[in-house]
Amino acid sequence: MFRFQKTVCQPLKLSGVGLHTGKTIDVAIYPLPVNSGVWFQRTDTPGAPALLATSENVTDTSLATTIGHGDAAISTLEHFLATVGGLGISNLKVEVNGPELPILDGSAAPWASLLRKAGVKTLNSPRAFYSLKKAFTLTEGDKILKVEPSDRFSVEATIEFPGFVKPQRLFFKFSEAGFVSEICPSRTFCLLKDVELMKSHNRALGGGLDNAVVIDNDGQILNPDGLRFPDELVRHKILDFIGDLTLAQYPILGHFTTHKTGHTLNQKFLRALLSAPALLEKHEPTPQSEPQSFDLPLPSVAAVALAS
Ligand SMILES: [Zn+2]
Repeated sequence: MFRFQKTVCQPLKLSGVGLHTGKTIDVAIYPLPVNSGVWFQRTDTPGAPALLATSENVTDTSLATTIGHGDAAISTLEHFLATVGGLGISNLKVEVNGPELPILDGSAAPWASLLRKAGVKTLNSPRAFYSLKKAFTLTEGDKILKVEPSDRFSVEATIEFPGFVKPQRLFFKFSEAGFVSEICPSRTFCLLKDVELMKSHNRALGGGLDNAVVIDNDGQILNPDGLRFPDELVRHKILDFIGDLTLAQYPILGHFTTHKTGHTLNQKFLRALLSAPALLEKHEPTPQSEPQSFDLPLPSVAAVALAS
C-alpha cells in the first residue's frame, strides 16, 4: 500500500456546513513531520487538547465517528479520515472551530481534491504496517465483519435494506487511483424517515439533498440528479470502512469482507484486532530519519466503551 510516510506540502483552509449542527465550520490543515500521526484540535474551546486520530480516542459511533469528550470532541471524521487513509497521508494536524468536520457534498471527493491540490509530499521515512496472522470474524446479529491474511488491502462489501434498496455488492482491490475515482465520490445515504426522526431530535440540521443520497419510503431516490454510481451506497460503505480503519494509525494489509456494517461495528472490530497480538503483526520499518518533536500536548482522552 504505502511504503513511505506522507504529509501535505502546505497549510490549507476550508469552510463548510456541519451535518448535525447546521453551522458553518472552519478547518485549517497543517503539515507535520515524520512519525507525528494525524491530530485534531478544537480552536473554539481554549485548552481543548489535541487528539491523536486513534481507535482508542473514539468516544461515539452512533451517527458518525467521534473522537474526544465534551468541548474537545470532534465528530463526522470518517470521510476526511478515509481520504487521509486512501491517499496514504500519515502526518497532519487539523484545527477545527466546531464540534464536527463539514459534511461538504457527503462524499470524500472534495477532501481528496483539496488535499491533492495542496500537494501530498512523500517523506524520507518508511511507514509501519500491520499484517494478519490468521483470519478473524466479528458478527453482531446479521452484521458481519471478517478479515483474512493477504499481502494487499481489499474489501468485499455487501448491503441490503429490504423494502428500500436491492442488495448491492462490490469487491474493491485497493489502488490510490481507484480509491480516488471509484470510492471517494460516493455520498453518504439515509432513509427519509430517519432524516425526519433525526431533525425532530435537533440532529442532521445541515443535512439535505446537496450532501446526502435520500431514499423515500418507497425506495425512490429523491435527489434530482439521481445516483453517481448504480451501486453508490455500497461504495460509500467501503469509504466509511476505510475511514474507520485509518484509526489504526497504520495500514492493515488483509482481505476484508463486510456485510451491513456501520461505524460502531467497525470500531469494535478494529479494537478487537489491535488488542490481539495473536491476530495482528506490526511491521516496524528500519528508521531512515530520526523522529522530530512538535508542540502538541498528548491527548487527555482515555479509551471508553463504545455505544452498542
Ligand atoms: Zn459516511
